[in-house]
Amino acid sequence: MSIAENLKTLRDELPKEVTLIAVSKTKPIELLKEAYQAGQRQFGENKAQEMALKAPQLPNDVEWHFIGHLQTNKVKMIAPVVHTIHSIDSLKLLTEINREAAKAGRTIRCLLQFHIATEETKFGLDEIEAHDLMRQTLASGFKNVIVAGVMGMATYTDNHETIRTEFEHLHKIFKTLKSTYFAADDRFKEISMGMSGDYKMALEQGSTCIRIGTAIFGERNYQSFK
Ligand SMILES: *Cc1c(COP(=O)(O)O)cnc(C)c1O
Repeated sequence: MSIAENLKTLRDELPKEVTLIAVSKTKPIELLKEAYQAGQRQFGENKAQEMALKAPQLPNDVEWHFIGHLQTNKVKMIAPVVHTIHSIDSLKLLTEINREAAKAGRTIRCLLQFHIATEETKFGLDEIEAHDLMRQTLASGFKNVIVAGVMGMATYTDNHETIRTEFEHLHKIFKTLKSTYFAADDRFKEISMGMSGDYKMALEQGSTCIRIGTAIFGERNYQSFK
């Protein structure tokens, strides 16, 4: 299957209000261009340097989504190009994004990343931390970041019930934050959940934004991008 065919198959399955992010990490620019030719405009990367290198090589109507753990000292590399950062887990990070976005004369959408999986290795906030973060964020009055929703990754497992429960949990967190802090703010609307192996369950649980790599570009070879 070609990239164009993979994209078409996915798009045919998606409700039209759901955003499809093509996760292009480790993939050479030629493959991103192929996806672009097939109409894809949202791309996801998880390394700051890789995004900074790739962004100038595609037309500027591409939306770049940062989906990996982000260190504060790397924010300035992506601030001129990134559309949405899906991995906010501290006030320190949000503060730095606001500062670099202001320098670049931009506004950057940010999603709060939640730890919904049972695995130890996944980054993210719990609900108590998120409420602390939201109170501090509102008090800070950031002008160059928009808190636009939540993101999470389910446990890597064959157990569909586990995955469903974790996605359902993220949807509940979204609803609580929405009603507590964003009832009158339409910009808080994203539930970023679902990858190649679990996006169907994510859609059933109300995902607004799926992040798909393997099912578009094939398996990743971590040696291939330099
Ligand atoms: C790599 C990655 C994806 C895409 O994973 P696939 O299984 O290849 O679809 C989605 N989200 C995040 C956060 C990732 O790091």
